[in-house]
Amino acid sequence: MAIQKENGSVSIDAQNIMPVIKRWLYSDKDIFLRETVSNACDAITKFRMLHPDSEEEMQVMVTVDKEKKLIRISDTGIGMTDEEVKKYINQVAFSGATEFMKQFEEGEAKDKGDIIGHFGLGFYSVFMVSEKVEIETLSSQEGAEPVHWVSEDGMGFEISEGTRKSHGTDIILHVTEEEKEFLDQWKVREILKRYCGFMAYPIFLEDANAKPVERDVPVGDEKNEDGTPKTEKILEMPKPEKINDTEPLWLRKPSDCKDEEYKEFYHRVFMDYDDPLFWIHLNVDYPFNLKGILFFPKLKNDFGTHEGEIKLFAGQVFVADNIKEVIPEFLMLLKGVIDCPDLPLNVSRSFLQNDGYVKKISSHITKKVADKLNSLMNTERETYEGYWDDIAPFVKYGCIKEEKFFDQVKGSLLLKKTDGKYVTIEEYKAANFDKTEKKIYYTNDEKRQAASVKLYTDRGIDVAIMNTIIDGNFMSFLEYSGKEEDRVTFARVDADIDGLKEESEEGKDLDPEKLQTLFRGALGQEELEVKLESLGDPEMTAMVTEDEQMRRYKEMSRLYGERFPLPDRFTLVLNRRNETVQALAGRDPEDETTKLLCAQVYDLARMAAQPLEAEEITAFLERSRKLLSMVVKA
Ligand code: ADP
Repeated sequence: MAIQKENGSVSIDAQNIMPVIKRWLYSDKDIFLRETVSNACDAITKFRMLHPDSEEEMQVMVTVDKEKKLIRISDTGIGMTDEEVKKYINQVAFSGATEFMKQFEEGEAKDKGDIIGHFGLGFYSVFMVSEKVEIETLSSQEGAEPVHWVSEDGMGFEISEGTRKSHGTDIILHVTEEEKEFLDQWKVREILKRYCGFMAYPIFLEDANAKPVERDVPVGDEKNEDGTPKTEKILEMPKPEKINDTEPLWLRKPSDCKDEEYKEFYHRVFMDYDDPLFWIHLNVDYPFNLKGILFFPKLKNDFGTHEGEIKLFAGQVFVADNIKEVIPEFLMLLKGVIDCPDLPLNVSRSFLQNDGYVKKISSHITKKVADKLNSLMNTERETYEGYWDDIAPFVKYGCIKEEKFFDQVKGSLLLKKTDGKYVTIEEYKAANFDKTEKKIYYTNDEKRQAASVKLYTDRGIDVAIMNTIIDGNFMSFLEYSGKEEDRVTFARVDADIDGLKEESEEGKDLDPEKLQTLFRGALGQEELEVKLESLGDPEMTAMVTEDEQMRRYKEMSRLYGERFPLPDRFTLVLNRRNETVQALAGRDPEDETTKLLCAQVYDLARMAAQPLEAEEITAFLERSRKLLSMVVKA
C-alpha cells in the first residue's frame, strides 16, 4: 500500500513554541548537529539490537552543500515507518511541546539547556537554523515503504511517499540565509568534533561541492630512468573525513590500556604537547555508571593562569566542559573526560545541583583522586616527590575547598624544604619540634630571606618554602580549620627569634634598656622596640623581625586595597655576642658617628629582610659614603 499523502499540523500548542525555542536557544544553535547525529547513532543502535547478526557497515554521513544551502545527516539505522514518523516526530513533539509550554509559562525551566531533549524536542532544534526540513526514511521492517516528511516551520507538515532505497534516515536541512555560517565546512567540522568526537559509530563529513583533486599514483611496477617508481596524475574526489573515535580510551579496561595510549589520547584531546604527569582511569559500574580519565598536567605558568579542562560526556555524547556540579571545583585544574551515561543529555545547572546521583559521582571522583595520591606517596615516594611542585597548588586548593579531601590526603601533603628535600608535616614535626617553639618555619622568598633562613638551617632547623600564590591561604587553612589535632602554626623565618636563641656568656652584661634608648634616639623612632638577644651566629649584628600575624594582616589589607595600610612594626633584635653591638653599647649616644652607625645597623638588618623604599635607599647610600670617608680619614 502506497503511502497516502497527508498534510497536518504538529500541534496547536506548538504554534507558539517555535518562536520560543528559536529565541531561547539562540546562543546554543550548534546543538542541532549533536541532536541529529546522536539520534542517528541511536537509530543505528536500535537496528543493531534488532539485527544482531547483520554484517552491514553502519555509519552516519553528514554532507554539507553550500551551493544548495543544505545539510544532510544520513544514517544506516532502523529508519521509521509512516506510523512512526507520525508518532515520534509529530506526536512526541506534541506532548513534549505541551509539557514544555507549561513549564515555560510557570517559569520553571530557567535554564535553556534544560529545554530541548528533556521534552523530546531534540529533533526540533533543527528549526533553529532551517527554513525547511525534510526527512527521507525507510524502516528496516519487512515490507516497509519509504516515507518523505517535510515541514517549513516545525508546525505544519506533509507526509508522502519517500525515495530511500535502504533502511535508515536522511534528515535534510534547508539552512536559512541568516544561519549560513553552518554551511561552512570548518564550522560543521568543529561542531561535530566537539559534540560527536567520541560517538559510537563512524561519523563522516563530506563536502558536496568538493572538486576533484590531482594525485600521483604508481603505474604498475614501471620505473623512471632514475629508478624511481613511475607515476601518473589522476583526478580523484576527496574522501569523506572521519570525524570521531568510536572506541574512546576511557571505555576500555584500564588493564588493557598502555601508557603510550594515555599520552596519545591526552595530546590529541587536550592539544597539549607535554606529557601528563600521571592519570587516573575511572571505571565504575556500580552503584552508578561512571567512566573517565583524569590527567594531571604539568604546570606551565604559575597557578593563577592555569586552566584545566574536564569534558563531560553522557554515553559518548559530549555534554559540556567544566560542569562544576559534577566535578568538584578543585579538579577543574586537571584535564580529563568523564562519561556518565545515565545523565540526561541536556543537563541544567539547577538540575545537577540538586541531584543526589551527581553528588555521589562528585565524591567518588574526589575519593579516587585522593586514593591515587596516597598510593603514589606510599609506594613510589620518590616519583611522587618529583610531581609535587606541579601538583601542590591543585592539592592545596583541593584541601581548602573540600574538607573531606583534606582528610583523605593529609598524610600525603608535602613541604618542600630549602635543602630541596620533601617532608610530610608529621615528618617536619618529628624532626624539628623538640628544638623550636612547635612552629613550621618557612620562607616565601629564599633569596631575599637567605640570611634569616641560614640562621635556622645553621642550627639544624628545617625551613619550608611556601612561595606559591595559594600558600598564604593554605597556611591559614592548616592553622585554623579542620580538627584540633591537624592544626599547625607557621612562622616566617623573620617573624620571631624563638627558635634562634642560644645560651652564651658573651655580652651578657650589656644593658638592653640603654641600647633601646640609644637606637630610638639615633633613629628618631620613639616607638621602636629593641631587643637584646644571644643569637647563634656571632657574626650577625642585628636582625629585624615582624610579628607573623601582624604581617599577614597587613599583607591582607594591602591585597584588598586598604586606603590607609597599617604601618610596619618591626622589632630590632641586637645580637649581644656581636662585636659591633658590644662596641656601640659603650659609645656616647649624642655623638654624630654613633648615630650614623646605629642607623646603618638598622638599615642593614632591614635590607636583609625586604627592599628599602626609594628615599630610604638614598639616605642609606649617603650615610654609607659618609662612613667610608670617615674610616679612610681615621
Ligand atoms: P529524543 O531523541 O529525545 O527521543 P527527538 O526529538 O530527538 O527526541 O527525537 C524524537 C524521536 O524521533 C526519537 O526518539 C526517534 O524515535 C525518532 N527519530 C529521530 N531521529 C531519528 C533517526 N535518525 N532515525 C530514526 N528515528 C529517529
